[in-house]
Amino acid sequence: MVVVFTNLRRWMLAHTRTLTRITVFLHEGKVNQHKHQIKMSQQGYVATPPYSQAQPGMGGYQGGYGPPGATQAFYGHYGGTTQPYNAPPTAGMMKSPAAGMTPTPVSQYSQNVQQNVQQNGAHPHRYPAPPAASAAYGQPPQSSYNTPGPQSPVNSVAQPHLQRPPPAMGQPHMHPGPQSPPMSPQMTAPPMAGTPLSPPPTAGAPQMGAPQMGAPLMGAPPMGAPPMGAPPMGAPSMGNPPMAGPPMGGMGGPFPGSPPPGVGGFQQPGQFGGPMGGPQPGMPGGFPSGPSQLAGPPQKKLDPDSIPSPTQVIEDDQLRQGEQIYTTNIRGQVPPLVTTQFTAQDQGNASPRFMRCTSYSLPCTADLAKQCQVPLASIIKPLARLPNNESPLHVVNHGESGPIRCNRCKAYMCPFMQFTEGGRRFQCGFCNCVNEVPMPYFQHLDHMGRRVDFYERPELCLGSYEFAATLDYCKNNKPPNPPAFIFMIDVSYNNVKSGLVKMICDELKTLLEKLPKEEGSESSVIKVGFVTYNKVLHFYNVKSALAQPQMMVVSDTAEMFVPLLDGFLVNYQDSKAVIYNLLDQIPDMFANSNESETVFAPVIQAGVEALKAAECSGKLFIFQSAMPTAEAPGKLKNRDDKKLINTDKEKTLFQPQKGVYEQLAKDCVANGCSVDLFLFPSQYVDLSTMASVPSHTGGSVYKYNNFQVETDGEHFLRDLRKDVQKPIGFDAVMRVRTSTGFRATDFFGAIHMNNTTDVEMASVDCDKAVTVEFKHDDSLGEDTGALIQCALLYTTLGGQRRLRIHNLSLNCTSQLSNLYKSCETDSLINFFAKSAYRAILKQPIKNVREILVNQTAHMLACYRKNCASATSAASQLILPDLMKVFPVYMNSLMKSSPLVASTELSTDERALQRLSVMAMGVEETQLLFYPRLLPLHNMDPNSDVLPAPVRCSEERLSDTGMFLLENGHSMFLWLGQGSSPDLIQSIFNLPSLAHLQPNMANLPELENPLSKKIRSIVNDLLEKRPNSMKLHIVRQKDQPEIVFRQFLVEDKGLHGGASYMDFLCFVHREIRQLLT
Ligand SMILES: [Zn+2]
Repeated sequence: MVVVFTNLRRWMLAHTRTLTRITVFLHEGKVNQHKHQIKMSQQGYVATPPYSQAQPGMGGYQGGYGPPGATQAFYGHYGGTTQPYNAPPTAGMMKSPAAGMTPTPVSQYSQNVQQNVQQNGAHPHRYPAPPAASAAYGQPPQSSYNTPGPQSPVNSVAQPHLQRPPPAMGQPHMHPGPQSPPMSPQMTAPPMAGTPLSPPPTAGAPQMGAPQMGAPLMGAPPMGAPPMGAPPMGAPSMGNPPMAGPPMGGMGGPFPGSPPPGVGGFQQPGQFGGPMGGPQPGMPGGFPSGPSQLAGPPQKKLDPDSIPSPTQVIEDDQLRQGEQIYTTNIRGQVPPLVTTQFTAQDQGNASPRFMRCTSYSLPCTADLAKQCQVPLASIIKPLARLPNNESPLHVVNHGESGPIRCNRCKAYMCPFMQFTEGGRRFQCGFCNCVNEVPMPYFQHLDHMGRRVDFYERPELCLGSYEFAATLDYCKNNKPPNPPAFIFMIDVSYNNVKSGLVKMICDELKTLLEKLPKEEGSESSVIKVGFVTYNKVLHFYNVKSALAQPQMMVVSDTAEMFVPLLDGFLVNYQDSKAVIYNLLDQIPDMFANSNESETVFAPVIQAGVEALKAAECSGKLFIFQSAMPTAEAPGKLKNRDDKKLINTDKEKTLFQPQKGVYEQLAKDCVANGCSVDLFLFPSQYVDLSTMASVPSHTGGSVYKYNNFQVETDGEHFLRDLRKDVQKPIGFDAVMRVRTSTGFRATDFFGAIHMNNTTDVEMASVDCDKAVTVEFKHDDSLGEDTGALIQCALLYTTLGGQRRLRIHNLSLNCTSQLSNLYKSCETDSLINFFAKSAYRAILKQPIKNVREILVNQTAHMLACYRKNCASATSAASQLILPDLMKVFPVYMNSLMKSSPLVASTELSTDERALQRLSVMAMGVEETQLLFYPRLLPLHNMDPNSDVLPAPVRCSEERLSDTGMFLLENGHSMFLWLGQGSSPDLIQSIFNLPSLAHLQPNMANLPELENPLSKKIRSIVNDLLEKRPNSMKLHIVRQKDQPEIVFRQFLVEDKGLHGGASYMDFLCFVHREIRQLLT
């Protein structure tokens, strides 16, 4: 019944027209694969095209597919030596004496006042006179009050930008409106703000001892502010008295107002329970210099509330900027945090949803950049999803002439082009070249020198917009065909037996009705195709004219080809009946298959060949059960070796196997073929290699260990649905241009680079981000600022070629204090995570961790030395206000599985996290490194308000509590041992916690307010996040709880790694060493 072909290619050449004769007509019944001898190619793996072209080392592939520069052994921040502070001043400092040093010594007191004034100025309509406050850690109030008062002008930044947003933006028709000129530079840099953290006052404390518990540092009593002493905004702490402080959002720290006696003040031994002890010496995976150095005399336990709180920072920003309109008209403006709910209004700069930066003020010189060691990077999510209340990007069509560009640097027309000579010329903001305005584009200038059609043209007044691309931007100068989705299902024994194959087939019947489509169009034009495989591949002809689908088998996996062109990729709606028929039959056809071996690389190869033949780009959805062990190109073997952990060879576990997959990734990128891999393994699969094609083609990798339909089915289907339906572009090339003085030097993402400038992505979806690092190649001017233009050329879901442009203008500064005032912790962490995760491909993990700590200490020491008050005690830890929670994130990153050398961790899991993070945006890395922990036990089930998240520490849990924890990839419902039977009854319909079944993955649907409320919280989160999360229900002190505990990132790591408190102490000590 089954006709098996080998060397079909040769055969095909001779018999193309009779091909259908040797197809299998599926309606004739089941096919028992195992009964048929499948003749494998005897050639084995021979070096014939396309596999023969693998050239080790090409294009920096080995170095994690970076640009050629990436192949050098150490680069970026992972090779530089730490610059000691007693080094002579750098040239940059000498040029500008003010650069490194704060001009006037400003006390902490005055810093606080200034900070508040600045914040007030920024939002006078919202917070007319909030109380002065800043996070102050450890400084006794007395000494704070004794410090000199403010010395800098405090009103210089009041109301810098209160223009009404122009009505033109975000509306289909743009009308000029009365408004101030956009892009006006910020008038005055905000005054600096510091977060001091003092050393232990006790004489006997070890020198590098833990930072003091926060003695509140007082701000001036607020004018017209509510009385002090209101309950804290922060997390309700479980058992510790809450930190006192009024709920004034955005005031930089938890300690405004009068110091509450006895709470959060000086050390109060005995008051601080829980495991937050002093440093724990000898922990595995601890600090490079050895945590034992921290060990000294027994230390008193510290109040965790005294160190900067991420949840407080998040909450403060939400209060300050949440539910407001964020207009992008100001150069170098620091946007709201990624966690804050806001509405962005484009007024000349790209929304932070598309672009975020590590700092919005770049140092003017390379020396200054080197001095502070703050990485300069932008995280770009070019196709980011916009909320419903923000309008989609305008599409500009300049007809056959195409978009207007600078003749020299090829930057696209944007708000940074300056029109001169009555509108006949424009000067490029990037390279300063003066260009002629093409006649059709000519327009007169108004009295302000602005084109009179300024508000009618998105490319003149907006930060983000799209151009319709002309044929010049298309492959072979032909308009692209609509993209295709190919579903490739592993039908080997395990996948069939688990019920997965049936589940996929059933789901596709409904999912294919919801294929994504071009904005505004009625139906999807995406073509679909189907392949099943084990050791051989089965292609299906689902042409609409057929009564039954036809199967064609290709067993020669060494020389993969697609045996049919017509009828393989079809329009779903046209071929619906035949596809339904096929999806109904597939599970039955392989029901009795005993085949357990599979191929993998030939599957991807088949997909590329199919897209190539159809001359379209697209995506492969591969559902694979195990490591490919069948004799075929790309066959893998188990190379997991725990003995390599903690050695110089540990990096090999993360390096993909060279050869076949390397070439395959290039083929995929060249043909606009993206690969999404869904893995269902029961053991090691060499994920580093199997995921190498997806992670360089803009694809995603999903993994479901020991998949069971009952417990993992819904979780997988949610992922699949999200993945299939998400907005996506194909065959993309991204180019990042900058104004003179600096340039993009390195790129991180699910990308491929053939040269140093063009970021190639076979596909890019709404969740994929590229992190771009910048370096100086000259000095930058404070007047002109720094400009970034990201241009993404891609094919839309509807098959249109487009250019999406994002523009962003940054400040430049010769004052380090300005730089630290414009930093964004969440973006910094995104950059550090990606650069560290790439560095572990080349360097021992120990070195990478060491570099992370050194750079953290260096950045903070530089701030301490150059920007903090000269009068503050030398031993005080003072953190930049916008970086005050940087250490907790950095510590969490260092404890993340790729950076923890523990034999207890799965190599595949570590590899998966490493690769996933590479494509993440700032929002995703923020949540990953600081999970959200929601107390659910005392919320009002009838309220719409979500409970405020609490800090990720055991301290915050309670025996009678119930908490939901999620980090975008995992979700836990944690139940304290003492949970009340009423609570358990309401949620689980069980008499007590003891009756709870292990492995429960869903909450029963019960008709009571609490059950409904909790399920709605869970569902909202699942809806909101890019990935699905499996819900784990864990009981306090049950064995599975250990998995949950590793997400309590403020605590000591389960597999090594310090607690937040210990890390802060350690960093403080490092800083002090740097400063002496
Ligand atoms: Zn130019």
